[in-house]
Amino acid sequence: MRIASLTACLILIAAASVSASPWSRIKSSLTWGGGRGQAENSPWVDEQELGPYLFRSEFPLQDVHGLVQDLGDLQQDLEETLRLQCQPQSIQIHLFQSKRSYDQYLRLRIPEGVNRQALYVPGNEAGGGRVYAYRQRDLETDVRHESTHALLHSALPYVPIWIDEGLAEYFEIPASSREKGHPHRKELRDAIRYQGWRPNIEKLETKRKLLDMNGKDYRDSWGIVHFLLHGPKEARLALDIYFEEIQSGAKETPLSQQLKKRIPHLDQAIIDHLK
Ligand SMILES: [Zn+2]
Repeated sequence: MRIASLTACLILIAAASVSASPWSRIKSSLTWGGGRGQAENSPWVDEQELGPYLFRSEFPLQDVHGLVQDLGDLQQDLEETLRLQCQPQSIQIHLFQSKRSYDQYLRLRIPEGVNRQALYVPGNEAGGGRVYAYRQRDLETDVRHESTHALLHSALPYVPIWIDEGLAEYFEIPASSREKGHPHRKELRDAIRYQGWRPNIEKLETKRKLLDMNGKDYRDSWGIVHFLLHGPKEARLALDIYFEEIQSGAKETPLSQQLKKRIPHLDQAIIDHLK
């Protein structure tokens, strides 16, 4: 899963002055198979520029037409849901035909990414963020997950790792299933019922890098994000204030403190929301 991705890199994507074009306008100019001319020796069978995304694919993009469409909607979904404004400079999406081909490509360029299922590398002065994924059953989920990181990092000057992953887990599935259809929902219900699970936001807030996050941390971060977005309005308000503080450049008040100020018996409220 995306658990092993390299999203913890703390290099920030510079806020770009270029705004994304509205997707609907871009869609009308899309012609499958008619992308940029490929340079000789280029591994890409198809290259298309769509809004903030530059797709480079080892197979025809028409094969993943639904995913391409979905990514166009993802920025709007994320902006509306989180009340943030994304400013993606450019997001390069690299799609590989097989794990072997993906590993070969990364081995030369980003060796630490080899053996991971998908990868997001933040942008720097040399260019925007980059997403790498290969063709397999979860390709669409992987690309939505990694692209969520890219969009979030274009909207905020920094994103604490636990909420970065919680939000990427939340947005990785199709919009119609986000509230009720993520597998983490059942996992957390079972954990509450059979293992006496309790939330521990303070512990998540101590995580500083991706290697600090295990599978349960991803699940738990998703659970907190679900509470923030679908729980009481006070939780939503705490998230808004948290993002405002991050955007101001000030050191943010930990979200756990923002929540405790507003919601008595916070842990029980989260359990009641998720069970
Ligand atoms: Zn991630």
